[in-house]
Amino acid sequence: MSPATTCGRCGVVVEADAKRCPGCGRLWPSLFGQRRRLDAWFDNDRPFSKPLGLFLIVVYLVTCLVASKRGDFVAGGLFGLGPGPETLFRSGAMATAAVLHGEWWRPITGCLLHAGILHILFNVAALWQLGGVVIGGYGNARFVIVLFTSGTLAFVTTMTQVPFTIGASGAVFGLIGAAIAYGYRRGGEIGERIRGYGFQWLAYGVVFGFLVSSVNNWAHGAGAVVGFGVAWTFDVWRLQRGRESDGARLLALFLIAVTLVALVVGVWLGFTRDYPYVRFR
Ligand SMILES: [Zn+2]
Repeated sequence: MSPATTCGRCGVVVEADAKRCPGCGRLWPSLFGQRRRLDAWFDNDRPFSKPLGLFLIVVYLVTCLVASKRGDFVAGGLFGLGPGPETLFRSGAMATAAVLHGEWWRPITGCLLHAGILHILFNVAALWQLGGVVIGGYGNARFVIVLFTSGTLAFVTTMTQVPFTIGASGAVFGLIGAAIAYGYRRGGEIGERIRGYGFQWLAYGVVFGFLVSSVNNWAHGAGAVVGFGVAWTFDVWRLQRGRESDGARLLALFLIAVTLVALVVGVWLGFTRDYPYVRFR
């Protein structure tokens, strides 16, 4: 006998191999017996923001190491203490010219790279703080959807203004937008508090953006707008009623897979290709 799980739509207990839910009639209600696994992966008591932040720190340290081996480590000030432009470019930085030459992965991989200590620390701190709020409201799956769409679209929509850029800031501003959207949609005292928290982070981000001249304010603005817009379409009461939808979870898994493939392909091709159209120095 296969272990029973519950239907993703109505919550009725179903056998893992049930073809139709006896409660609501949904086809394959236990997702071919994979629902337990999905429930375990997307357990909202273990927010994805923590491992993601650690992953970004590891990526930063690895690019520092690679850069210093290549003689491309830049040590000018807190913001510049990190890999130089060539290492960043080859690791998958967002570069408009390369995207126009068919390198589709750059709006994705560019979000994973950081150029200096201040840059990585600000983004990871914001990711951990805001991630907790957004995951608390929407759950891990929709957190991933907000991050991916706001991070990549922030780069794509501003590629004519900004020819070369990196960092998770667009995605972080997407979280700010999502927290504000959650606050408005939820309403009440809790909604007001979360909205205020979002606006507070928005103020920090804007001040930080205009104090540090190398910050890509275009991508920040675009990320906030996309995060707000995407989160506005979400059902804010979904988690209180049970769990995230199967669709959101499967989409989140797909986006994580796309990101990992983009990183592997991007690093592989970036360090082996010639770039006659790029002047590195
Ligand atoms: Zn059902």
